[in-house]
Amino acid sequence: MITSLVTGGAGFLGSHLCDRLLKESHRVVCVDNLLTGNKNNIAHLFDRDDFTFLEHDVTRPFEIDGPLDNVLHFASPASPIDYLELPIQTLKVGSLGTHNTLGLAMAKRARYLLASTSEVYGDPLVHPQPESYWGNVNPVGPRGVYDEAKRFAEAMVMAYHRVHAVDTRIVRIFNTYGPRMRPHDGRVVPAFIDQALRGEPLTVFGDGLQTRSFCFVDDLVEGIFRLLISEVTDPVNIGNPHEMTVLEFAEKITELIDSDSEVVFKPLPIDDPKTRQPDISNARRQLEWEPIVSLEEGLTKTIEYFRELFLPSERK
Ligand code: NAD
Ligand code: UDP
Repeated sequence: MITSLVTGGAGFLGSHLCDRLLKESHRVVCVDNLLTGNKNNIAHLFDRDDFTFLEHDVTRPFEIDGPLDNVLHFASPASPIDYLELPIQTLKVGSLGTHNTLGLAMAKRARYLLASTSEVYGDPLVHPQPESYWGNVNPVGPRGVYDEAKRFAEAMVMAYHRVHAVDTRIVRIFNTYGPRMRPHDGRVVPAFIDQALRGEPLTVFGDGLQTRSFCFVDDLVEGIFRLLISEVTDPVNIGNPHEMTVLEFAEKITELIDSDSEVVFKPLPIDDPKTRQPDISNARRQLEWEPIVSLEEGLTKTIEYFRELFLPSERK
């Protein structure tokens, strides 16, 4: 039986990944200190013999009994408001957490997959962003704690690959959404859905003309799984190239929720990237992967999740 360890497995993406690996008949060890995650995301797995939860901060060394085939490092604050509130934890989980988990993978001769991010491209000067682009990051701005932690993590992974021959993978994840996001994690998808469901104004930062490209979680997890079982050791972008402005996104949310919420403009966060769209040519060619869930379909499922979370009485 294949055993996979997922750090950050009680978070949004990590919990979906645990589900997927269990579906592939892996035994799963989930390691999380619940900093931004929640046990509710994995509560449905606690009774299973093939699932183990270990509450632990991966910036501190740890050991696991028995063999491990894969180590997938997903632990890290990921929402801008989280990493701006937790700058040192973010830097530590990207550096010490990556070092500790790479050491574990090396000791177990396990394959290692790092959850990296489109933020390694910073406020990009190349559009869309191919993996070959080196990025435009402000190391000393508030956002730098996340961007540089992930850039360091990628460098550390490649060093372990080159020096210690650890079998590594790097996925650069672009904005992904879906059920199990925290309603108040500050990211635009849960923020707008929450506001529209409550009939409150949608908080658009800046002029709303900055762009993002949103990927549904099921598509992302499929891409990550394909990367894990592939032989591709260079970083691979996984995301949905369907790009839109934040204002267009606000309109889409109010339309799908049939809400009469207005838009209010708030200051743009420092160093907020002006554009973002993945170039997924490599994923298409090397993994035969591309997203298949439309924005409407993915958002409808996500809105349903938030309705269940907030308004159970309205549905009865
Ligand atoms: P999340 O906040 O829901 O999940 C992160 C998880 O990591 C949480 O459960 C948290 O408790 C855990 N964690 C944080 N620090 C830890 C530590 N020191 N030790 C153990 N556990 C720790 O965020 P997410 O959106 O699921 O993101 C997961 C990963 O994917 C992150 O590494 C993030 O950088 C990356 N990513 C996500 C997106 C996205 O759009 N969701 C985009 C790019 C990259
Ligand atoms: N944003 C917004 N209103 C919000 C939250 C975010 O206008 O309430 C904007 C944010 O400034 C950014 C985009 O939406 O331009 C995506 O933000 P998010 O935090 O989801 O992810 P990012 O891509 O910035 O990491």
